[in-house]
Amino acid sequence: MSAVAETTLPDVTGHFGPYGGRYVPETLMHPLQELEEEYFRAQHDPEFQRELSYYLKEFVGRPSPLYFAERLTKELGGAKIYLKREDLNHTGAHKINNAMGQILLAKRMGKTRIIAETGAGQHGVASATVAAMFGMKCVIYMGAVDCQRQELNVYRMKMLGAEVVPVHAGQKTLKEAVNEAMRDWVTNLRSTHYILGTAYGAHPYPVMVRNFQRIIGDEARAQILEKEKRLPDMLIACVGGGSNAIGLFYPFLDDKSVKLVGVEAGGLGIKPEQHAARFQGGSLGVLQGTRSYILQDEFGQIQSTHSVSAGLDYAAVGPEHAWLRDARRAEYTYATDDQALEAFMKLARLEGIIPALESAHAVAECMVRAPKMSKNALLIVNLSGRGDKDVAQVADKVKLEMPK
Ligand SMILES: *Cc1c(COP(=O)(O)O)cnc(C)c1O
Repeated sequence: MSAVAETTLPDVTGHFGPYGGRYVPETLMHPLQELEEEYFRAQHDPEFQRELSYYLKEFVGRPSPLYFAERLTKELGGAKIYLKREDLNHTGAHKINNAMGQILLAKRMGKTRIIAETGAGQHGVASATVAAMFGMKCVIYMGAVDCQRQELNVYRMKMLGAEVVPVHAGQKTLKEAVNEAMRDWVTNLRSTHYILGTAYGAHPYPVMVRNFQRIIGDEARAQILEKEKRLPDMLIACVGGGSNAIGLFYPFLDDKSVKLVGVEAGGLGIKPEQHAARFQGGSLGVLQGTRSYILQDEFGQIQSTHSVSAGLDYAAVGPEHAWLRDARRAEYTYATDDQALEAFMKLARLEGIIPALESAHAVAECMVRAPKMSKNALLIVNLSGRGDKDVAQVADKVKLEMPK
C-alpha cells in the first residue's frame, strides 16, 4: 500500500509519484503557471461550476445513460454488463466534457482564439464545436495521415468554422500534431488557449483534464448504486492518452473492491512499431511536457506506432495511469486490431450500438473477462464514443455482402 491515497495526487508540482511534471521550454513555463492558477481558482468557484453544469446538461446532453447490455451479457454468459454511453454525448464522444470545461476557462481568461491537436478527429470536432458556440476563432492541428483516415471529421470541423492544418512532419499522426499546436501556442500566447485533448502533457493538463472527465465516473457510480444497490466489480476502458479511462476510474480509486482495467492498442501484435501498448515494451521517458511510459528505442528516439484506431495511436500514456499501474491499483492490457474489429461488429449486431474503434478495444476486453466472471458480478464498460467516423475504415477491413 502506498502511503499517499491515490486520490490526493498529483502533488503541487504536478507529479504522480515519479510521473508527470512540467518539462517544457522556458517560454511555456509562465503560461502554464497562469493556466494552473486560473484553473484551480475556477475549480473552486461555484459560479464556474454552475456554468459548466449548465452547458453539460443543456448542450452536451448529460447525464449519459448507464445501459444494461442484456443480449451481450447473455451471449457472454458471465458478468452483468453495463455500458456507460459517452457515445450519446453531443458530437459523439467523451471529448466534449473536457473541451467544454476548457473553453469556459479560456473565456474566463479573456482568450479569443482556440487551438487544439486531434488524432481521430473527435477532439478536433469537440473543440471546433465549443469554439463555434462561444464565437471564438479555432485552429486544429491534425497529422496528414489522420486527415486522410478520418476525412469525415475534417469536414465536420470545417463546417463548424475551424481551420484544419494538416501536419506533414514525421509519422504525420497525433504526436506531430501536438508539436505544431505547442509551436503555435508559444507564438500566440496572449490571444490563445490550447485545449489539449487528453490527460497528458505538462502540469496542469493531466489533472485538469481528469477533473473535467471525472463526471463519467461520478455519474456511473451514482447510476450503478441506484440500479444495483452496490458498487461494480470491474470497470473497463480503452486508454489512448488516458482521459476517458481516468474519468471513469477516478471516483472509484478509493473503492478497493472495484477492479480497474485499462486497454491499450495492441495493433498487429506486440512487436516493435506494430502497436501502441505503452505498458508492453514501453519505458520511462519524457515526451511533450510530461514524464511517463513511452515507446522509444534504446537511443530515446520515439518509435512509430500502429493501431486501427487513430485515437489510441500515440507513443505515450498519461502519467496518472503509469502511477496507478505501479501502485497496482489499475491493471493494463491490450486488444489487437482484429479483436477490436470483432468486438465492433459484435456490439453492432447484439446491441444495436456501433462503437468507436477506440471503445471497441474496451468491448474486446469485456468479451475476454465477462465469461470468466460469475453471473452476479457487475462490469461497467466505458463506451467512449460512437463509430460513425469509423464506418468507411471498417467497411474496408470487414467484407459485408452489398446489394447489387
Ligand atoms: C480520443 C478518443 C479516445 C482516446 O483518448 P483517451 O484520452 O484515452 O480517452 C478513446 N475513445 C474515443 C471515442 C476517442 O475519441
